[in-house]
Amino acid sequence: MSEVRNPATGEVVAEVVGASVAETDAAIGRAARAYESWRNVPPGERGRLLRRFAAEVDAHLEELARLEVRNAGHTIGNARWEAGNVRDVLDYYAGAPERLTGRQIPVAGGLDVTFHEPLGVVGVIVPWNFPMPIAGWGFAPALAAGNTVVLKPAELTPLTALRLAELAREAGLPEDVFTVLPGSGSVVGERFVTHPAVRKVCFTGSTEVGTRIMAGCAEQVKRVTLELGGKSANLVFADADLERAAASAPAAVFDNAGQDCCARSRILVQRPVYDRFLELLEPAVRAFRVADPATETAEMGPLISAGHRDRVAGYVDGATVAFTGSRPDGPGFWHAPTVLLADSPADRHWREEIFGPVVSVLPFDDEADAIRLANDTEYGLSGSIWTRDVGRAVRVARAVEAGNLSVNSHSSVRYWTPFGGMKRSGLGRELGPDALHAFTDVKNVFISTEE
Ligand code: NAD
Repeated sequence: MSEVRNPATGEVVAEVVGASVAETDAAIGRAARAYESWRNVPPGERGRLLRRFAAEVDAHLEELARLEVRNAGHTIGNARWEAGNVRDVLDYYAGAPERLTGRQIPVAGGLDVTFHEPLGVVGVIVPWNFPMPIAGWGFAPALAAGNTVVLKPAELTPLTALRLAELAREAGLPEDVFTVLPGSGSVVGERFVTHPAVRKVCFTGSTEVGTRIMAGCAEQVKRVTLELGGKSANLVFADADLERAAASAPAAVFDNAGQDCCARSRILVQRPVYDRFLELLEPAVRAFRVADPATETAEMGPLISAGHRDRVAGYVDGATVAFTGSRPDGPGFWHAPTVLLADSPADRHWREEIFGPVVSVLPFDDEADAIRLANDTEYGLSGSIWTRDVGRAVRVARAVEAGNLSVNSHSSVRYWTPFGGMKRSGLGRELGPDALHAFTDVKNVFISTEE
């Protein structure tokens, strides 16, 4: 039994019983049996069921959003977007079953065709920072491709995933096609890795755990998708629209209290505009509204737990603080938005993923210096480039080793475009047109036409 707390107040909002190894095995066994019929549901019917699931999510959007505010401390605005994202991802992949076409390849003496076969049971392991969207990015394409899914939410944030599983049943998805199993990583998560009937693990979380999962999956040559950590750069060149770059920088790192793998947590500013940029950044950070996440105007809520808040605060101790924003007094796991000046790229706060509302700033000299500093990290998830020079924008976007870049913007996630990391930020891509194929294997069939 584990307690689920409201991060804004510290109060217990629910108690959830974690599944044991035996219960996990039983659920995987049921999912494996359900797969035999789910894979044979005609494509149009599978798509229709997923559209109905999307409609159920839409009908319960406000309920799901409010549940996430209580469970994860997300602002109500963000939580509504997150529930809407599950709906949209389901709708998008609901169009996939009828379009999962193979090829016909010319050969002598017969007919050669390929099929995108589902894998079987897919295990989805979800972190606490975006409980709903990350669940949906795994289960929606997996189900559309004809797999059944067992999903483990994070220990701290199981409530919306459990509700989504109920909504799936209400939408008419057959029993055991989509099962949510709350529990610990070392019990339920590990079992997804070791159980032979789970044919793929779709993991989002820390690079440390992801590395272990990849090694474990290798034992069975199990398919794996990894979405891991990040330390993304926000590159501001001297010719940029500095007002826009500074005004948008706080949300690019402090959104979701910085608990975002795509957080632009390293700001690199070209030396001639470094002081001016900081002058413009300060009022934007001070104006960032940190408040009870249930209020409509809140831009940032608390951190997920007391332990995590202490860990984040540990990065600020002893560092050079340029300025900070505000935070509410009273209970809850609050940390003010904080801007640190890096003395050098060796600083711990410059190198490690803090996963909180802390951003580090460092000047650079020229384009080559910017690219070198941006790439001087084990991560490669996202990043932003601010410049008015189109040629430079393209050169730098091609040179920065990251899976998701934006120019004069910080957008990085759209459900219809691919998302994922380079280097130790991950393996494989989610969302967009290609993610579906990551939940299938290609089968080639040759049919002889010889008499
Ligand atoms: P975590 O790695 O501690 O946990 C993630 C999930 O894995 C949880 O459900 C946990 O219970 C489970 N788990 C833990 N140990 C396990 C094991 N041995 N076997 C199987 N499962 C296990 O990460 P977290 O602290 O919950 O999440 C924060 C991390 O997630 C950050 O590093 C962040 O950057 C990353 N993240 C990445 C993306 C992305 O798309 N790249 C998105 C969101 C979060």
